Amino acid sequence: MIEDLHKSSLASFYKELIKKAKNLLIKKYSAVQIDKNDNDFPSNINSKKFIFFKVHIEANKYPLVLIIAIPNHFPDEFPKIYISEKNYSEIGQIPHVDKNRFVCTKDPNIAVLNDNRPDLALDKLIEVALDIINKGIKKESKDDFTDEFLAYWNEESKYKLFSLFIPKSKIETVKIIFPEDFKIANTKANGLIVRIKEDYDEWMNNLGLPSSNIEIVDALYLPLSEPISFPLPKKNNKVFKIIKDSGKNNFKALKKYLNMGDSPNFILFSFPIKNERILAGWKSPLWGETMNGFRPGKVPIEQRMRKSGTSLIKKISIERVDQDRLFRRGGVGIKTSFKKTSIAIIGCGSLGSPLAISLLKSGISKFFLIDNDILEPANVARHICGMSDAVEAPYKSELLCKKMLQHFPHIECKSSKEDILDVLEHNETCLNNYDISIIALGNKSVERRLNYLARKEVLKSHLIFIWMEPFGVAGHMFYLHPDNGGCFQCCFDSEGIFKYSVAKHHKDFFKRESGCQSTYVPYSNLEIDSFINSVTREILYNIDEKPKQSYLMTWIGNTTFFESMGYTINNKWTAYLNYSIHKNEIQQNNNCEICITK
Ligand SMILES: [Zn+2]
Repeated sequence: MIEDLHKSSLASFYKELIKKAKNLLIKKYSAVQIDKNDNDFPSNINSKKFIFFKVHIEANKYPLVLIIAIPNHFPDEFPKIYISEKNYSEIGQIPHVDKNRFVCTKDPNIAVLNDNRPDLALDKLIEVALDIINKGIKKESKDDFTDEFLAYWNEESKYKLFSLFIPKSKIETVKIIFPEDFKIANTKANGLIVRIKEDYDEWMNNLGLPSSNIEIVDALYLPLSEPISFPLPKKNNKVFKIIKDSGKNNFKALKKYLNMGDSPNFILFSFPIKNERILAGWKSPLWGETMNGFRPGKVPIEQRMRKSGTSLIKKISIERVDQDRLFRRGGVGIKTSFKKTSIAIIGCGSLGSPLAISLLKSGISKFFLIDNDILEPANVARHICGMSDAVEAPYKSELLCKKMLQHFPHIECKSSKEDILDVLEHNETCLNNYDISIIALGNKSVERRLNYLARKEVLKSHLIFIWMEPFGVAGHMFYLHPDNGGCFQCCFDSEGIFKYSVAKHHKDFFKRESGCQSTYVPYSNLEIDSFINSVTREILYNIDEKPKQSYLMTWIGNTTFFESMGYTINNKWTAYLNYSIHKNEIQQNNNCEICITK
């Protein structure tokens, strides 16, 4: 009943405001309501969700007919404004008006319509539309055109391609690969642009898509220095002229490409806008491949143009899916130093797996994941991989690797389901191909062995050890400098107790499940995420600002909660705030058996 009441009052609220809007349109613009049978009725709109009006207005003495669609949820939804068929065909392409005759009035200044006087807001919206149309007619909005180039080009396109190829200022021949069935999200694409076929194979394989049954064509890529101007070309002779005017080298390359024979003619181009190259392309119809008096492939381009100059081109819209593009869209882009850094992660459990994902999303693109552990149903609460992954295949390293490749199919990632000591026994130097090796094992004896190998300079990768204390009360990251400062072992006293421990040792810390099969110290995902966030930040910082000596970064968690359970914090740490970070340089310990024998 209450729901009904609410619904009906909201319905009458909308009804009232739509009435106000309608009154304004009738009073000021002599509007008439129209339906689907009207010639100017917009075609790409859900007619049940709007009420349509037609108004006559003058824009700089030019008689305009606008269609105004008031949404059922006005003013919580924006009205839409269209121009008539007749106006659209007379005015032609102008910025912010699409092929459905829709005028894009989105303006942050009127983004929120006013509840009290929505009719005034509607009036303001009509003004904005008129301004857009006026500027378009007077060609005052040419700059907007360049910005909107892709929107217009893609609107008319017949082909949709994804691209792993990054457009630069060099002429190149690239490959377009057309799989039989290719779809990402709701976008059905015709193919993928790559430099070499192997790039395609790897990408599809990482995504788990079949990569057989393909057609491959060579496409020509031409860098333009200036944007293509409006109106956009529709015919062979128009694009031909654009390339001819763009410079000798482009034109020469085009002639050579078209004379290569009977391959389909896919031409891609780019031009710079705001520090970025816009990538698009077209397919020319086959034009005069053979002609009397000329050997095949030797027909001069001018002759061929006479035969097919007025043939229509097919526009190609391209969406870049390479790393540069993905990261630029997502924010500030990605540092070259991150892209170049390779990282091995030893231990892909509750700390290693979220750290891998966090580094992946920061732009690191080369990984080696090592773990011989199996993902059990009991693990999924604190692992990046979930129950369905555990059903699919057993090893944590393999599952994490697959997950990362599926997320960013352009990266390089391999995994090993061997024990790290077995891996090193077979190939002592295999970690040396990685700039950084992160040890997230929680196994003191293996950690000591890796520390030893690094101190003996067998391991040349920079070692970072991470672990958390019971109940997530603290987390530590130890960075082992190859030459300066102490080693991992130096952080422990003669009894083997970690000297910088935040929690005072307590017998409860090692909870045992039935049969002593597994030992674990419980802590929550929220604490893990917070610690991993700090570790990621620290690692990225280290990539640019190389540390000058060994150090320990300690992340303090919720000590208040920890103490409320009856446990104690070591004196050294009691003064520090929850969720604070502390760094300590680690000096060589004179009693360290590993450092002494070095
Ligand atoms: Zn040492």
